[in-house]
Amino acid sequence: MDYYALPIANLIEQFSKLPGIGRKTAQRLAFYVLEMDFVEAKKLAVSITEAKEKIHYCEVCCNLTENELCSICSDDRRDKSIICVVEGAKDIIAMEKTREYKGLYHVLHGVISPMENIGPNEIKVKELLNRLNDGEVQEVILATNPTVEGEATALYIAKLLKPLGIKTTRIAHGIPVGGDLEYFDEVTLSKAMENRREL
Ligand SMILES: [Zn+2]
Repeated sequence: MDYYALPIANLIEQFSKLPGIGRKTAQRLAFYVLEMDFVEAKKLAVSITEAKEKIHYCEVCCNLTENELCSICSDDRRDKSIICVVEGAKDIIAMEKTREYKGLYHVLHGVISPMENIGPNEIKVKELLNRLNDGEVQEVILATNPTVEGEATALYIAKLLKPLGIKTTRIAHGIPVGGDLEYFDEVTLSKAMENRREL
């Protein structure tokens, strides 16, 4: 790192913390930024700080929003009797693209993973349970990813919901094991929702 002036070394360091960015790519991005027009570089920096300042969790479903409620929770046309539970806010985008689901969501912001010391308290399970008290919700669809952690998390939540008498379903596996919801095409995802089974 001694080859670089400190501000360049810092920039490379920050880029290399991003997912999927190795040392080489981080270096390429840093040099790209330095070649950028000052106004454009400033826009990039400002959009990062602005997003961090303005975006927070929806008070109901923990989706990302700049308001108290996200656009889905505040939409009267959505079916409030059904909640689709997903790992991350990106999964909502994938699900919405199918244009078939009209219910609400709940974002866990992670999955239970003993290997990484992530227990139920580290994800938004409590927030989900709090939504089920008023008797309005008839079905909870568990749409965590079909990975080992995703399955374990779905089973854990299903167990908690059992005594509440709420229908609990799991999306079907037209989805390959180890896959990530975000990367499935709309047809696969629609089918997986259609063929969901009760847990
Ligand atoms: Zn919401």
